[in-house]
Amino acid sequence: MGARNDELLERYQRSVLGVFGLPPLVLAHGSGCHVWDVDGKRYLDLVGGLAVNALGHGHPALVSAISKQAGEAIHVSNLFTSEGQIALAERLVTLAGAPEGSAVFFANSGAEAIEAAIKLSRRTGRSGIVAAEGAFHGRTTGALALTHKPAYREPFEPLIPGVTHVAYGDEEALRAAVTDATAAVVLEPVQGEAGVLSPGPAYLRLARELTTAHGALLVLDEIQTGIGRTGTWFAFQQAGVVPDAITVAKGLGGGVPIGALVAFGPEVAGLLTAGQHGSTFGGNPLAAAAGLAVLQAIEDEGLVQHAATAGRHLVDAVTALHHPLVREVRGAGLLRAIVLTEPVAAQVAASAREAGFIVNPVAPDALRLAPPLVVTTEQLDEFVAALPALLDAATAPQPTSEES
Ligand SMILES: *Cc1c(COP(=O)(O)O)cnc(C)c1O
Repeated sequence: MGARNDELLERYQRSVLGVFGLPPLVLAHGSGCHVWDVDGKRYLDLVGGLAVNALGHGHPALVSAISKQAGEAIHVSNLFTSEGQIALAERLVTLAGAPEGSAVFFANSGAEAIEAAIKLSRRTGRSGIVAAEGAFHGRTTGALALTHKPAYREPFEPLIPGVTHVAYGDEEALRAAVTDATAAVVLEPVQGEAGVLSPGPAYLRLARELTTAHGALLVLDEIQTGIGRTGTWFAFQQAGVVPDAITVAKGLGGGVPIGALVAFGPEVAGLLTAGQHGSTFGGNPLAAAAGLAVLQAIEDEGLVQHAATAGRHLVDAVTALHHPLVREVRGAGLLRAIVLTEPVAAQVAASAREAGFIVNPVAPDALRLAPPLVVTTEQLDEFVAALPALLDAATAPQPTSEES
């Protein structure tokens, strides 16, 4: 790494709380799917700020929408509302295909959208929540109770009671866990943080059947999978189920913090009434303008369909390498994991960074790719062309001191 990077990271270490470990790079700016570090080195960003930079960096429509909004009103509080907030709520309901009477609560992050879903589920008069092993729903103490990874949870226990984790994709386990005491089943249609795992449409349909039969809510966490990421506006739309609520965040603001809970139909939306929940910043005019601009650009540029075709292109190109270190490419649309036959994802990610590509070693044996939806097939091909050498470098025997 260059000098400026090293110097700033030393300051980072002394001043920023260490929960993220020491990042490898200090990024300065971006354009489209590229980012530059403070030493001027350019990278093709195939992680897209963790599925957030849906339009990449510096997209003219997003930049102009938030610049214009910033000059008009950044914030008005939820004592009032704004035209943008109303329009974004309407737009989300329409894109989700949610029925008449559906309504949106705006938050500032994914975890806060989950918090709203937890409170919504409590209003059923029940407190049981069924979530999945491997689940990631966020880090606030409420959301953390649904998140599964013991290393994230255990230092902070006791968390809210009533949460049962079942093996993801195991139909029998789900049948056994959902009862008349269940307030909600909360599932990711694709588990991103667990390594991009899909349980398949039949599992989500079963979750719908069981929740309906027991009078529980089906909440689908679309925070990572939503907003076109998997090749449809929302991943649940591929399974042919209608949930009771979805949570959305990451891609929605294109980088401006925003989260949302969409409650499907008047009965579910009516569970939370005046005074029962709130947020100072949630859905403020700046965030709403960002959300509207992102949704409009995705529609104007056909990026939902593009996510599907570019994602398929990536799978085909990586598969065609027939590299011995590649087991498979899983996921949907532009949410993918290249699964390796050896636990060397961290080494591959490090050599990729050296070569100018940002990828995420989401598991010891899996590289997650969640590039901006504007990524071109040429850019994906550029990475695929470099991949064999990156994989070879990760498994090459380390030079001994005599050789070096
Ligand atoms: C990222 C993520 C969250 C948490 O979102 P934050 O904005 O980090 O709070 C929750 N659920 C899923 C599926 C996510 O990918």
